[in-house]
Amino acid sequence: MAKKKFPLFDFMDRFPDEQSCVTYLSSQKWSGGFTCSTCGFGKSKQGKKKCNHRCLACGYEESPTANTLFHKLKFPLLKAFHMCYQLSVNKKGMSTLELSRQFGLTQKNVLVF
Ligand SMILES: [Zn+2]
Repeated sequence: MAKKKFPLFDFMDRFPDEQSCVTYLSSQKWSGGFTCSTCGFGKSKQGKKKCNHRCLACGYEESPTANTLFHKLKFPLLKAFHMCYQLSVNKKGMSTLELSRQFGLTQKNVLVF
């Protein structure tokens, strides 16, 4: 099957806001079910935030971004998703300087990302 390019409009449709990014990460992260990263227990309930999982055994609450590429992100997730998109469609790749210019971030932020 030929690799299909992901059109920008589809991307914008799919991720119109911060919440849609969080929901996507959540579904990716726990696609095989929840496993507590602290005690290994497999059952959870909804945490304080809508997409967080709270372990029923130890009470540890995990966000969809914890232990992922987006952990401790200093700017909105939506911005990060757009950056990933830009990186994926730009064959030559983008320098951190280009990225920081385009998204109005400091270069340090981009490097952290
Ligand atoms: Zn636990």
